[in-house]
Amino acid sequence: MAQVTCSFCGRNKKDVDLMVSGISAHICNFCIDQAHMILGEEEKTKKSDAAKPKFKLQKPKELTAYLDQYVIGQEDAKKVLTVAVYNHYKRLLQKDEKDEIKIEKSNIIMVGDTGTGKTYLAKTLAKTLEVPFCIADATVLTEAGYVGEDVESILTRLLQAADYNVEAAERGIVYIDELDKIARKSDNPSITRDVSGEGVQQAMLKLLEGTVVNVPPQGGRKHPDQKMIAVNTENILFICGGAFDGIARHIGKRLNTQPMGFSKTAGNQVADRENLLQYVTAQDLKAFGLIPELIGRLPVLTHLDPLHQDALKRILTEPKNALVKQYAKLVGMEGVNLVFEDSGVDFIVEKAVEYNLGARGLRSICEAIITDAMYELPSDENIKELVIDREYAQSKFDKSKFKRLQVA
Ligand code: ADP
Repeated sequence: MAQVTCSFCGRNKKDVDLMVSGISAHICNFCIDQAHMILGEEEKTKKSDAAKPKFKLQKPKELTAYLDQYVIGQEDAKKVLTVAVYNHYKRLLQKDEKDEIKIEKSNIIMVGDTGTGKTYLAKTLAKTLEVPFCIADATVLTEAGYVGEDVESILTRLLQAADYNVEAAERGIVYIDELDKIARKSDNPSITRDVSGEGVQQAMLKLLEGTVVNVPPQGGRKHPDQKMIAVNTENILFICGGAFDGIARHIGKRLNTQPMGFSKTAGNQVADRENLLQYVTAQDLKAFGLIPELIGRLPVLTHLDPLHQDALKRILTEPKNALVKQYAKLVGMEGVNLVFEDSGVDFIVEKAVEYNLGARGLRSICEAIITDAMYELPSDENIKELVIDREYAQSKFDKSKFKRLQVA
């Protein structure tokens, strides 16, 4: 019988403990061990490559220039966000472990009316960043043991965004929307437990500060048989946002002025009483019902300005993917030239203001005005141009559900 030798090292079968035979080759236990080691090394290099931050350090002004293409106004929020994100990157690049000066992360809180661009800012920022990013909603969170999602579920989304690459997720950014909805309902810490608010805030503390959290990879409730993934939140940047309805009252009280009205009382030095949010401080957040520990872990505070007529008009027409441009593209695909006259644009903006719908309402008003045309155009080849002026907009708007809203 022919001698069986290892096809890799040539050892004879009788000199090894084990020889595995394939179709036309053999491998001995020594070579298996060695191959296994090589695989392990390979895996390690792959992992450390993945762990290496692979991003281009984008300076605050570069980031702002990108945001400006999509988000109108909100200069203060843009500045604060881009600086925080830039510092987040720098923090990740911090190499010297022994250095005594540790850069702490600066989680952010954004205060601004609904529909002023908080989520949009975070989303747009995420597009240009090459770190995993996710949006979570604080309203679905409850403290462990109650119906709802555990705070860890936030990280499930981040893991999913990172394609379950834990190292990548650990340097990601999380946007938590509607933080105001987990505020304590009254300023006095109550004796009874506040399930919906304070408990969740407490549960979030560790997460924001930096800890190793066991995350259920598929989300939902933790249960004993589920395999958990350990995620360290130390390098994850958290950006929180909320409308904080009624916080103007607290700010006003603090500033010793009234949010409404223009009483010119002595000592009243507040310049802009219409937009009290710009004076928001940690103290006001506390008065609103956030616990001081949570505020302490969100040290960077910024506000979003309310969107007035001018801003809404710019939002409708200027951004790279402005609604007006989107409709023109859609209609253009039918071979029809869509022209939004200035008077038509003004009409849409006026209605958004009148119905107090903000930027989010622009879309539904546009839909109300343009749906008829979008229905007719594809079947009528004679129409080559559609002009939306005030008159056209008004006539379509009057037939829409908005008009009925007003009647009701
Ligand atoms: P919120 O502040 O409630 O998170 P969003 O960011 O979701 O509001 O805004 C809703 C929509 O309104 C966005 O998707 C965007 O199209 C538009 N929008 C709001 N604010 C702006 C803005 N400043 N610039 C451009 N578009 C905006």
